[in-house]
Parts: sequence; C-alpha cells; structure tokens
Amino acid sequence: MTQIKLFCPATIANLSCGFDVLGLCLDNAGDEMIVRKVNEKGIRITKITGADLPLETEKNVSGVSAVAMLEAYERDFEPITVGFEIEIYKHIKAGSGIGSSAASSAGAVFGINELLGKPYSRKDLVQFAMQGEKLASGNAHADNVAPALLGGFTLVRSYSPLDIILIDSPEELFATVVHPQIELKTSDARSVLKQTVSLKSAIMQWGNVGGLIAGLYTKDYDLIGRSLHDEIVEPLRSVLIPGFDLIKQTALENGALGSGISGSGPSIFALSRGKETADKIAKAMSEVYEKMNLPYEIHVSKINPDGVRIL
Ligand code: ADP
Repeated sequence: MTQIKLFCPATIANLSCGFDVLGLCLDNAGDEMIVRKVNEKGIRITKITGADLPLETEKNVSGVSAVAMLEAYERDFEPITVGFEIEIYKHIKAGSGIGSSAASSAGAVFGINELLGKPYSRKDLVQFAMQGEKLASGNAHADNVAPALLGGFTLVRSYSPLDIILIDSPEELFATVVHPQIELKTSDARSVLKQTVSLKSAIMQWGNVGGLIAGLYTKDYDLIGRSLHDEIVEPLRSVLIPGFDLIKQTALENGALGSGISGSGPSIFALSRGKETADKIAKAMSEVYEKMNLPYEIHVSKINPDGVRIL
C-alpha cells in the first residue's frame, strides 16, 4: 500500500466542565486527506483545498505532527528511508472550535502509521498529533486529537505521563454544533483565561467532571445534563461569542441536556437524547442566528465511535 485516503473527523473539546481533558468525536463533520508514501525522504504537503493554510511542512499542523512521529520512529525502530506527501481537503474551517487543526494532525499521523505497517497504536499517535496542536495554539493539548484518533468520548486523565481513557457513552446521545462565521483563534481564546481558580470553583468543576463521566457510563441523561456546567472557562470566554447566552438558552428550552462552548469557540454545542431533539435544537439555533443576520454553519451528529477512518 503506497497511498491512503482518510476521513478526519471534527471533534468537540472541553464539553463544559472538562477544559483541556474531555472531548468527543463527531460523525459527519470532518476533512478528507490523502497520505502517500514516496521515495524522496521528508514530509511534503502537496495540496490543500477549501482553506487558505500554509503548505510549508513546519507551518502546517499536519507537517509538524508527521515530523514528530518520524523522529520518534527513528528513535523507537529504524532509520526512515522513504518520505510522505500529504493532501488536505478542508471542510472544517480553521478557528471554528471543532478541531480543524486536530483533524489534520490526527489524519497525518494515522495515515503515515498505516503506510509504515502500523508500528504505533492509535493511543500512541496522540502524543505526535499533540505537536500540531502546539503549533496551532501554543499549547500541546490532547482534548481534540484524542477523540479524533480514538473516536467516542475521551478523557485525558493526565498529561504527564500522558494517560488517555476512552469513556463509554449512550448510543442515543447526539450533538448539535452551531458555528457562527467569525474566526476565534484558540490562542486568543486562551489569552482571556485566568491562571488560577478558587477552591470553590474547582470543587464544583471536579464534581461535574465526575458526574458527567458517571452519567455517560450509566446512561443517566439527567445526570449528564446536570453535569454539563462550566464554572471556570465559559464565564470568561462566552463574551467573545456573538449570541452565546441566547443560543444556549434556546438549546435548553428545546430539550438539550446541556449546552456550552465547543473547544475554544466560537462554535456552541448542545448534547441531547435522540436525533429528533438534536434536529429541533438545530432549527431553533438557526433561527437565532438568522434573526441576528449572522452567517452560520450547523451540524447534527451522533457520537462517532471510530475516529479517523480509511475511506
Ligand atoms: P481549531 O480549534 O478549529 O482547530 P485553532 O485556532 O486551534 O482552531 O487552529 C487553527 C490554527 O492552526 C490556525 O492559525 C491555522 O492557520 C493553523 N493551522 C495550520 N495548519 C492547519 C491545518 N492543516 N488545519 C487547520 N488549521 C491549521
């Protein structure tokens, strides 16, 4: 096999209470990539459609992740005698908050791993894809790349050492994500955060993280809903997102279990039980942005159990 075509899924990170540690994988929103093994050594990005992103290996998250992986491969196994070309077909806009950079990072390392005969597990690949996130936002976070690579719901239990846990989730769980068409860079959305939190806020936050995980495992939708609350980040970030309060309120009034900022925004997610409710929420959210005359994109998706996949 010398070439592979991939679906590289969008992801929702943070999920209200789980800043930098929780994420989930979407089913029908994502990019496509082609990764090709070639004789000339090195990583080259030969084509990008759908977005104005750098082709230079060191400026594109897919290139940076791929280089990190090949360096590790040479340390862990043997010298690399081949090279790789990457084509990226973007459907998720950069700076959307649904893991545009993570999709490219995950796709690059997954594709190369397949073409090398799978020396690494999907979990192993997370550390390499995180280097792409470091380029995009200045921070090597794993809450988008972990679900993009592993699928489902993921928890980064620890960053050092890296410990990623796959969390069971009910099959009927659906996500609605609306992306108001403004770009909010993760690096900017991070700059509004405070570096310290009060013990009172921390207690509420870790109570909710535990509650959300327990709710997902036991299929307790009320508990999932009660736990989708963010004491720490949402109050600071939501002011950067046009119509945030109204969209969230609309989602809850239309049956959402909970709603919050997707990743670093500006996308806003709602979780619900069943597609019918998720569609109803999508319609109501759309009406809000239409009234505000703000262009938007909207996705309704079940949780994707597989992550990045071969097409
Ligand atoms: P998102 O949460 O949607 O991934 P980020 O702000 O984290 O948004 O990442 C987008 C940043 O990463 C932009 O500055 C973009 O130029 C840069 N970038 C580099 N390569 C890529 C890529 N292949 N896909 C998406 N963004 C990329």
